[in-house]
Amino acid sequence: MPHGYADRNAKRLHRYTGLTHAQARQFLEDQPVGRPRIVEATGAQRRLEALVFEHLGGDVDYFAHPIGIGSVVPSHDDLVVSLDASSTRHGYPLVAHALEGLLPAELPKAEQTEDDVRVLGVPGVRTTRTSREGLHLSLAGTEASVILTCGDNSNWASLVADRRAVLEADGYRPCWHEAELTEPERAFHQEHAEMSQAVAEASWLPSGLLRRAGLFHEVSTAYCTRYWVTWNEWRVELKHDPGVKPAHDALVDHLTDPKWGMDLAVDKLHCECDAPWADPHYDRQCTVELSSPTSQPGSLQVRFRAIGTWCDSQDTYRALQRAGADPIWLGRVMPQHHNRG
Ligand SMILES: [Zn+2]
Repeated sequence: MPHGYADRNAKRLHRYTGLTHAQARQFLEDQPVGRPRIVEATGAQRRLEALVFEHLGGDVDYFAHPIGIGSVVPSHDDLVVSLDASSTRHGYPLVAHALEGLLPAELPKAEQTEDDVRVLGVPGVRTTRTSREGLHLSLAGTEASVILTCGDNSNWASLVADRRAVLEADGYRPCWHEAELTEPERAFHQEHAEMSQAVAEASWLPSGLLRRAGLFHEVSTAYCTRYWVTWNEWRVELKHDPGVKPAHDALVDHLTDPKWGMDLAVDKLHCECDAPWADPHYDRQCTVELSSPTSQPGSLQVRFRAIGTWCDSQDTYRALQRAGADPIWLGRVMPQHHNRG
């Protein structure tokens, strides 16, 4: 394979995944010939990745990378997610926050009612192994695998033990070590059968986004990225500093790329970037609606908000600096503060 071709592919994979150029090259060399660059997960693997993306909580504060993810390794049958070593503004590590969102525990008996959610965290998520390098997650009764890692070599065993101690002290019963679904977890799935099915059927969308988490750092020009889901309608909101052009065309091109992107096509694009009537004091918003051209369930709306000059983002710039954001990235997404510094 000529060098130029391999380098171009590595560069692309870097943009999609956040892997370094050398890691991206190695990853591509290890892939069997003919396999798509970023394989789509299927079955339980896809469902687990969707749940991790939804409940990770990496957009709860400003971290070194948008959504708290430095890079992902999107392998055929597992996914490695490298979380930032950052903490929230209150000094709470992102990795501990992620465990709170993901690991399931049964509510104390006294708090359980017949028609209410009886599980904290994500019912069915399991830990299969903890090591200094990472926390291996799965779904009960499946071979699905997502490995959370963190640059600072967080001691995952002790993080999980801490989480267990906190829950048990409050009367909760952690169930992330059980082989099978527990009775309250089963009850949750039965009581929310319709929703669980809709979430599972649309899991290709969050799984595909998680496998391409690098785009939020490498292609997007937003300093702030948030996302949420209602049923199977996903929303991503990107905030841009004054003077920074939202990269909606580039982001859409990457998401819909026939070789590297997802099963997505643009349904609508509303753009206010060059609206001559717009007062720069106020926010503007370009909106893109995407869905599957092959009619897979679920939809994605990306809101590109250009924040008006009314907003002083100096504090946000400092928060990102404190979190360890890459200075080159800061220069790209917040040039007015960066150049001043
Ligand atoms: Zn626009």
